Amino acid sequence: MDCQKIIDRVYAEVKAGENLGQVAAYIPELSKIDPDRFGICLTSIDGRQYRAGDAEEPFSIQSIAKVLSLSLAFACIGEPIWKRVDVEPSGTAFNSLLQLESENGIPRNPLINAGAIVVCDILCGYFREPKKELINFIRRAANQPDIDYAADIAASEKSTGYRNFALINYLKSFGNIHNDIDQVIDLYFNLCSIKMNCVELSHTFLFLANNGVQLESGETLLDSSRTKRINAIMQTCGFYDEAGEFAYRVGLPGKSGVGGGITAILPNEYAIAVWSPRLNKKGNSYRGMKFLERFTTETESSIF
Ligand code: GLU
Repeated sequence: MDCQKIIDRVYAEVKAGENLGQVAAYIPELSKIDPDRFGICLTSIDGRQYRAGDAEEPFSIQSIAKVLSLSLAFACIGEPIWKRVDVEPSGTAFNSLLQLESENGIPRNPLINAGAIVVCDILCGYFREPKKELINFIRRAANQPDIDYAADIAASEKSTGYRNFALINYLKSFGNIHNDIDQVIDLYFNLCSIKMNCVELSHTFLFLANNGVQLESGETLLDSSRTKRINAIMQTCGFYDEAGEFAYRVGLPGKSGVGGGITAILPNEYAIAVWSPRLNKKGNSYRGMKFLERFTTETESSIF
């Protein structure tokens, strides 16, 4: 199979087709992005990379980063994490407050905003310098020392982040935030602000396709049983209230973000990152979904 050829062909087909949907505008900084950017990179576990389009253009990975903060928190505290956050698909919007009321402040899963905020709280309780430890973990996964938070995006989100402030206060009222609210929400906004390009992003997620082991350093970032669990959570909860649709159309565990990125992995084979900023009604990249659907169909690569 000539992977580059298939990527080039599917990329060209999807690019020639419609580009529907809207760029996320509720974070002012994100609304400035050119909506027609489109990049792809696949990194295989033998280290080969296949790229197309704007693969080297950095963008804000937003909620995709929630998988990385979850991986670090899970590696640090293990199973007790599930006392603070559940592992069920939410079926509601990523920033919903609804279910917290009936579920006593236990977020449905760690990949919606409420769950990711609780994970940030766990990191704030575990580390003296959580912001530094988190970015170090991500740099080790990426094997790239200059991955960083984007202060302008974090500040921009903070300026309009009323829902996330509501969520953290609501969580606190149930006793599910243990640290200073300002510190926790600051970590959350910074987490979402991280910028990477598709080459870096696919490389960063490769450990989840490689039983938790970082390719170049050989470091075990997460043991294989926990890696399996993170992948299961991506499969069931990684696409807002469109996780079923993504599983049906693409057939890989993954995570999307409102910056228009999607990362997906095929265990023991590859990690792939796609970026195209226009989002469908459920908040997932319109072209990203299309590309991955066609790519996994043509390459017959799926966990099913
Ligand atoms: N920073 C965004 C928020 O909290 C993340 C949303 C997303 O990518 O799903 O609203």
